[in-house]
Amino acid sequence: MDKRQFLKGTGTILSGSLLSRFATSEQQTAPRTNWAGNYTYHADHLYEPATVEEAQQAIKSCAKLKALGSRHSFNSIADSTHNQISLRHLNQIDLNTTSRTVTVGAGVAYGQLAPYIDQRGFALHNLASLPHITVAGACATATHGSGSHNGNLSTAVSAMQIITHDGALHTISRAQNSGIFSGAVVHLGSLGVLTAITLDIQPTFQVAQAVYENLSFAHLEHHLDEIFASGYSVSLFTDWQNHRATQAWIKRRISPGTPSSFAPDFYGAKLATRNLHPLAGHSAENCTEQLGIPGPWYERLPHFRMNFTPSSGAELQTEYFVPRDRAYPAILAVEQLRDRITPHLFITELRTVAADDLWLSPCYQRDSLAIHFTWKPEWPDVQKILPLIEEKLAPFEARPHWAKLNTISPTRLNQLYPKLPDYRTLVIEHDPQGKFRNQFIDVNIFDT
Ligand SMILES: Cc1cc2nc3c(=O)[nH]c(=O)nc-3n(C[C@H](O)[C@H](O)[C@H](O)COP(=O)(O)OP(=O)(O)OC[C@H]3O[C@@H](n4cnc5c(N)ncnc54)[C@H](O)[C@@H]3O)c2cc1C
Repeated sequence: MDKRQFLKGTGTILSGSLLSRFATSEQQTAPRTNWAGNYTYHADHLYEPATVEEAQQAIKSCAKLKALGSRHSFNSIADSTHNQISLRHLNQIDLNTTSRTVTVGAGVAYGQLAPYIDQRGFALHNLASLPHITVAGACATATHGSGSHNGNLSTAVSAMQIITHDGALHTISRAQNSGIFSGAVVHLGSLGVLTAITLDIQPTFQVAQAVYENLSFAHLEHHLDEIFASGYSVSLFTDWQNHRATQAWIKRRISPGTPSSFAPDFYGAKLATRNLHPLAGHSAENCTEQLGIPGPWYERLPHFRMNFTPSSGAELQTEYFVPRDRAYPAILAVEQLRDRITPHLFITELRTVAADDLWLSPCYQRDSLAIHFTWKPEWPDVQKILPLIEEKLAPFEARPHWAKLNTISPTRLNQLYPKLPDYRTLVIEHDPQGKFRNQFIDVNIFDT
């Protein structure tokens, strides 16, 4: 099938069994869409088990089924033509201060987890731009934040509890399953259904962020590494016009009691004196605190606040990862398309991500620059622009974000992800009947 054709909780911590009184294990529902509303799921049945045992029964009874997180992906990755299963009722959080790990139920979102561990003195190494997504769903797709020395969110995973095709519950851990662990962490939902996931944590820390306006791209030619290393996490936003980043968001770790200091000038860009939203015309009320005011890591590393709409809402997203040592020419290559891109774009964000060893990670063995596009919801036009961007980025071996929109062919994906053949073998071994394979997996992973 032509890929272009089909691209179209609460903070209270309860154990799964406590919730069983209230939850229905299987629901027949009206058409459901993803968060952005650009994709309608095809599955007739949505299972919402209240316990691990109910999840096991549901999985055993279905011939085909796909796990659904918080629905923030932009393509068909979480869809099924048969059944979906949401683990939203599995929302326990177990902190282990000795091993410095936290194990969360597959229904837990970062926005629930982060304040819980922060209050107990711990932090995650990084967060995405929004806290609304589930840990399980984010790590399944190699979701990332920013920071030249920060791996994506999946790099924090040290173990996963997973129900396989036969309904059996297994633990896959970094310590016990080193042969397949790097292959299993970024799994796109195709190895089984996670009931819980364990993450490495560290002592809590404070972050201050400041925003600078109008950073000329000319400075990226010789200072790209310094600019992206000027904070623990750095994001540049651009509309691709005027050879500049409209905003540079710099997030610095600071010691408690130490005032943050952001110079008034940063490579010619000027320090903002009021909070800003990355999208022109959107209220900064939705954004995390800026102006260099220190705060807990989880209230500064994401751009958007938990109880507010992140980004725009009605939007599409695309993202490509290029090697960091070729980041500047890759930016210039995309810039050539500015007059095609800008009319359909809300904003582009540029972020750095450290290399990792996770087989399906876009940063597999490559320090990367991620070039992200938040598009207006204008798919017919965006669909025509994506191949042009992909052509410009082809010399840079650009790998796409699994959960966002692209038109890269399966054959090309096979070239870009050197461990895809090994991943296929892993899927066949763990799911011989293809219970967890949907059209997205069949096309992108197997149809090469
Ligand atoms: C406004 C917005 C901002 C975003 N910002 C970023 C960003 O900063 N960085 C970034 O990298 N991405 C970003 N994304 C993309 C987002 O992080 C990914 O789409 C992520 O996968 C969403 O997680 P989810 O819980 O919604 O999972 P879903 O979209 O529901 O599912 C994603 C995948 O995870 C699988 N899955 C989910 N739960 C389970 C489970 N229990 N067991 C097995 N498989 C499971 C699904 O089958 C599917 O394959 C953004 C998206 C939006 C809408």
